[in-house]
Amino acid sequence: MTADIVLYKTDIVPVGIDQAPHLEFARETVRSFNYRFNTQVLIEPQVKHTEVLKVVGIDGKDKMSKSLNNHIELASTAEETTKRVREMVTDPARQRRTDPGNPDVCNVFTMHKIFSPQEEVDMINVECRRAGIGCVDCKLRFASNLNKHLEPFRAKRAELEAKPGYVQDILDDGGKRAQAIAQKTMMEVREAMKLP
Ligand code: SF4
Repeated sequence: MTADIVLYKTDIVPVGIDQAPHLEFARETVRSFNYRFNTQVLIEPQVKHTEVLKVVGIDGKDKMSKSLNNHIELASTAEETTKRVREMVTDPARQRRTDPGNPDVCNVFTMHKIFSPQEEVDMINVECRRAGIGCVDCKLRFASNLNKHLEPFRAKRAELEAKPGYVQDILDDGGKRAQAIAQKTMMEVREAMKLP
């Protein structure tokens, strides 16, 4: 992973909280290499965290991950997305609609904080605690806000799907530019290590 980062002179790496220790290891490796060979050839990558450090899966366990099948597919249709949201685990202590809930332990509420307007988040924060809103309604509101948010990406995806040649050109161009940077880095690394 360190090689994948430093080969391209990457200075900022966006990661979730789980990957932060891996990146710290990469930073240590870079420092150690630069110190050992008295060079500044490799760039120490900085971590860039998103506002939400970790997104929990729809099953409420661990992190959201395709391999755990607890994810919401970005390429799904609005209907499929709503279906997945309806499967989301909520406050486990809230058994009936008339029970007050606790948004602080509910993943749906965490997701509302990412995708819903602040007034709606504030409303749910109050109403959930006094059973003024049910989980089904709460989830449908979230699904609607999520779908609104994803709509431009779906439209862009559809547009690109209709132009496969254009996408391939972008990939080829990116590949060439990345290869040029990687070759230059490897030359500098060999020089620093005094390798032939
Ligand atoms: S009402 Fe919303 S925030 Fe409260 S427990 Fe249900 S899904 Fe979670």
